[in-house]
Amino acid sequence: MNIPANRLDRGFYQYQDEFEAKALEVLRSGWYVLGKEVAEFEKEFAAYCGAKYCVGLASGLDALWIAFRVLGIGEGDEVIVQGNTYIASVMGITINGATPVFVEPDAFYNIDVTKIEEKITERTKAILVVHLYGQASNMTEIMRLAEKYNLRVVEDCAQSHGAKWNGQMTGTFGDVGCFSFYPSKNLGAFGDGGAVVINDEVLDKKFRVFRNYGSEKRYHNMIIGANSRLDEMQAALLRVRLAHLDEINAERADIAAAYTAAINNEKVLLPQIRTGASSVFHQYVVRTDDRDKFMNYLQDRGIGTIIHYPIPPHLAEAYQYLGYEKGAYPITEAYADTVLSLPMYTGMTQEEIKYVIDVINEYK
Ligand SMILES: *Cc1c(COP(=O)(O)O)cnc(C)c1O
Repeated sequence: MNIPANRLDRGFYQYQDEFEAKALEVLRSGWYVLGKEVAEFEKEFAAYCGAKYCVGLASGLDALWIAFRVLGIGEGDEVIVQGNTYIASVMGITINGATPVFVEPDAFYNIDVTKIEEKITERTKAILVVHLYGQASNMTEIMRLAEKYNLRVVEDCAQSHGAKWNGQMTGTFGDVGCFSFYPSKNLGAFGDGGAVVINDEVLDKKFRVFRNYGSEKRYHNMIIGANSRLDEMQAALLRVRLAHLDEINAERADIAAAYTAAINNEKVLLPQIRTGASSVFHQYVVRTDDRDKFMNYLQDRGIGTIIHYPIPPHLAEAYQYLGYEKGAYPITEAYADTVLSLPMYTGMTQEEIKYVIDVINEYK
């Protein structure tokens, strides 16, 4: 059997008729940028998240850097972020000239909230929370710290569409919730896309102005902005997918539950969910000591896997200027050396799931 780590075609074929009808509708409409599809998607996604506003943007990275820009966080400021995140989280901070201050992750791969306080200085302006792999972080503790030290909170929800902490959607706790609609995300477009959700009217307006060359009224540019617009085609196709998102997340949860119930190999450490958190299983991440061996073993049997992520941001070439050496963040680095994401996609068959489980159980 051949099972790649991800199969985006399956997700398309599940709702093929709806996607194709919607795409034709947009093609024939004669309106392709900032029209009714974006406006409707923004309303629907804000409602889905339980937020007041949503602003569609061109990517998840844009959502992050524009968030720090409109919050006025830049040169001379520090932002706390977990060490084991995707590089884009960190770029969202550094594009603005601010400095990332890394904190080690906990056993759930999210920021270790017991290690935040020791990193707070008089320069700290915000905490960037990443709901990594789809699991909600401990937002109660993060919001308590943010209040105590008067910090902004930005949530990187690029992997957590629909995940909740104590019943409340990720993205709605802090000042800004940043989403990516990159095709492989749980709510994926057919190209790049992103959005922010906010509850503050002033911030909502700032994002709207910023994404469109800093103008609200054409040719009246109030600030130096960007061109970061979700386009009509992506918004329209996202509306189709959003209507099925709970179904999509439920299917991923079923696959995860099947893995967790049946994978039984002392060499393979399975993911855990924190009490109070839900996960939408953007990834199902296991750990093994000899990862290369495990990965090759699976590959030889037709099972694709991906490492999320092999090089932690503090050791990336781009961030050499921060001056970190190997050993600076031992837990982050140990995770980078041992994590592996198993196949996880909607449309995965029972046969495929069982095959992955059987092959892993036979690993020695
Ligand atoms: C995908 C991702 C991003 C970036 O989103 P893009 O739309 O690809 O720019 C940011 N943070 C995390 C955690 C991600 O997984």
